[in-house]
Amino acid sequence: MKKTTCKTIGGVCDEEIRGETAEELMANGKQHLHDAAETGDEDHKGVIQKMEQMSEEDRKKWAEELTNKFDALEEA
Ligand SMILES: [Zn+2]
Repeated sequence: MKKTTCKTIGGVCDEEIRGETAEELMANGKQHLHDAAETGDEDHKGVIQKMEQMSEEDRKKWAEELTNKFDALEEA
């Protein structure tokens, strides 16, 4: 299990995000963004909007970067 923060994966806060795999980490990160946005957090809403506007290529690049970074993350 690895851990990182919302900020590290493109978000805006220091909330801890955990995952067994890079995919899980990304999924949990997204879940956190949506959870925070649902409570009315404008900053997280902005991040979601930005991600939705990303091109397929940008999104792939983001996922690749995170996957590459995954092994170097701190163990949770
Ligand atoms: Zn956050």
